[in-house]
Amino acid sequence: MNESYKSFFRPAIDALSGYTPGEQPKISNLIKLNTNENAYPPSPKLEQAFSDFNYQNLRRYPDPMADKLCTAIAARHGVARSQVIAGNGSDDILTMVFRAFTSPELPVAVLDPTYSLYPTLAAMQEARVIKIALDARNNFAMPDTATLLRQAATANLLIITRPNAPTGNSFELQQMREIVTGFNGIVLFDEAYADFADDNCVGLASEFSNVIVSRTSSKSFALAGLRFGYALAHPQIITGLVKLKDSYNMDMLTQHLATAAIGDLEYLNATVAKVRCNRENLAQELRMLGYKVVPSQANFLFAAPPDGDAARIFRGLRENAIIVRYFPGETTGSYLRITVGLPEQNAELIAVLRKLLR
Ligand SMILES: *Cc1c(COP(=O)(O)O)cnc(C)c1O
Repeated sequence: MNESYKSFFRPAIDALSGYTPGEQPKISNLIKLNTNENAYPPSPKLEQAFSDFNYQNLRRYPDPMADKLCTAIAARHGVARSQVIAGNGSDDILTMVFRAFTSPELPVAVLDPTYSLYPTLAAMQEARVIKIALDARNNFAMPDTATLLRQAATANLLIITRPNAPTGNSFELQQMREIVTGFNGIVLFDEAYADFADDNCVGLASEFSNVIVSRTSSKSFALAGLRFGYALAHPQIITGLVKLKDSYNMDMLTQHLATAAIGDLEYLNATVAKVRCNRENLAQELRMLGYKVVPSQANFLFAAPPDGDAARIFRGLRENAIIVRYFPGETTGSYLRITVGLPEQNAELIAVLRKLLR
């Protein structure tokens, strides 16, 4: 290999540190509560779907528009087929949205704290990021509508993660309507966790032409390994996103399996009900240990130990083969983000946390 290396990357790419995904360690018997995967397996209907798939079809290109899948998604939400686009995970949808609506002249506004992929996508576009601080002393509540709209005024894209990550809380639906009405740009509702929540913004995507709702199968459908997400929006927005998506962004096997998963909403609803129940039980147990727990509408909890030393608890859990997520920093550094596990995993977590209490 040549010793001397000269970078021809754009300076913005050289400066980028890149997104850091949660760890996927290879340790056995690990209780893995760090990346918000579903505690339960995907629909058993996928087994049949696998055996129905003829591998010989793989010599053909897949349907570039994933039409059968998008028709199933439209039916699920009671929207028109023309309001749907599918993606290779919702991260693919987010990439399309950043390419479409942000640039050095067109900033993006995001909540703070929120999903850490957004600033990385903004940096690739060389777009400025406006951070809208949530109130850490009040369960990470959003500022009032007038304040938020003033802060986001120069942005062309406003991302509201609802429920939010890593905090798990949601925001009043009525306020979302006010924001959409008052904001002069696109509002993207990242609804990665909406299946675990009491309500969602799908209605706003049909009612307003400046709304995009993004969804993923990674959490509620227990299909993080499949890479399937989608967006709902006005048909003109969908047409614009289709122009800049990768031409074959949905492979044939994913289209086939995702269509089967969307077809088994009964299983989805049963799984979601169990996760919600486990979430409330775990929150109560944590509060009994003296933890401060942000009310969650997702499949994880954002919880602060009584002494605020979350880094110590994070390390202590690791030594006991339990991994959760820790985000150092001023607002997040006293909390742990804990994925809701199976009841027996949650019980083991609580037992170890009790040992770690000072
Ligand atoms: C997990 C997650 C995503 C990404 O979902 P994928 O479909 O796995 O790419 C997007 N947004 C938020 C807030 C998430 O937590």
